[in-house]
Amino acid sequence: MLALPPVRGQPARRQPENVVLHVTQLYGGLLSRDRYYILEENTEPLAKEGSSVNEQFGAVVVAAGNSTRMGGAGSKVFAILGGKPVLRWSLEVLDACPLIGEICVVCREEDMDMAWKAASGLTKPVQVAAGGPQRQDSVWNGVQALDEGWGYLLVHDGARPLVTTEAVEAVCREALRYGAATAAVRSKDTCKLAADDGFVASTPPRERLWAVQTPQAFEREMYLYALRRAQKEGQFCTDDCQLIEWAGGQVKLAEGSYRNLKLTTPEDVAAAQGLLGFGIGQKEGYPMRIGYGYDVHRLATGRRLVLGGVEVPFQMGLLGHSDADVLTHAVADALLGAAALGDIGQHFPDTDPQFSGANSLALLREVCRLVREAGYSIGNIDCTLIAQKPKVSPYTGQMRENLAAACSVEVGQVNVKATTEEGMGFTGAGEGMAASAVCLLAKA
Ligand SMILES: [Zn+2]
Repeated sequence: MLALPPVRGQPARRQPENVVLHVTQLYGGLLSRDRYYILEENTEPLAKEGSSVNEQFGAVVVAAGNSTRMGGAGSKVFAILGGKPVLRWSLEVLDACPLIGEICVVCREEDMDMAWKAASGLTKPVQVAAGGPQRQDSVWNGVQALDEGWGYLLVHDGARPLVTTEAVEAVCREALRYGAATAAVRSKDTCKLAADDGFVASTPPRERLWAVQTPQAFEREMYLYALRRAQKEGQFCTDDCQLIEWAGGQVKLAEGSYRNLKLTTPEDVAAAQGLLGFGIGQKEGYPMRIGYGYDVHRLATGRRLVLGGVEVPFQMGLLGHSDADVLTHAVADALLGAAALGDIGQHFPDTDPQFSGANSLALLREVCRLVREAGYSIGNIDCTLIAQKPKVSPYTGQMRENLAAACSVEVGQVNVKATTEEGMGFTGAGEGMAASAVCLLAKA
């Protein structure tokens, strides 16, 4: 972590036109690594190394792009990733960086409400501004919305949720030293420069190739000078560093991270989920849900013994309104529980004659339909039958297959165990049987 730099009092607010005038004098069309600062309004610029500029950053998070490559379903920065909007991930990282004093999200006008929501509860002051027709217009709008007092600007792409604190601080550090810096990673691939005819024109040496990311950070005056000049001369740049380069300045490369993906296509979202440890897609909330089920039935003569859909030969059977398949009932309750859908008594009341003698595997199929309708897929199921007699181990394989088929999952996703209670309690005395089950659901 960097030490928190001293924060100077906010400079007096100036009109943007004055800023341009001064900065043009300062840089004279050539940005350099020399540090020139305006000390106060209408004074001659002084060449001075050091600390006369506020050394904190105003951050602009660009979330204004449309998402045609994401299938057009709304802006990708508001898609949910690991339970929160994509945008929120980088906002939290920036919010936690002591070098950043204020954050402005720039988005489409129709997304502004969502942007406010995504930024709610941050500790730093937050602004939300509408984007412009070009990326640099959007950044300009963001800069305008920020306090003028920040000596430095940081620009980050809201579609890069996996940015790290380390990368933000490295970029800020280099910008404080050199005036302009960007996060970047060394190219893993050999790159070719193509000619217009589609043939390779040349192979730049790989060790000198870097893939540029965001954040990018700049001395505010330097950046505004370059941006205003670009606006005047109709120059459009695809990234902010290019503006500085175009205006004759130098940009320092700071070590970024290969994880800092830009979410451009749906595959990128899946990759980001994988990197975050959310291997399964989700729409909202926590992606995994656990469920527990427990059931007991009394043993009686003159009844079939049905366990996991298998009719087990025994002199007694379980008593109940349906076929009293205690194991299947426990599994069904676990599934309903994980999806917060109540229990099987609610869905298949024992007062309803249509469920008299019902095949419990059919009820389980219906439970699975409800669970899937609620947006979940089944991860795995584990269940335990508790019975003194008979010996059920010869049948557990078939029970697994039955349960898996009823749930439309692979057999490998289901486990069936059986135990006794060593002659103790009601199962030990042979008065009844019990079963418990757990399951894991994932947001589909
Ligand atoms: Zn039951």
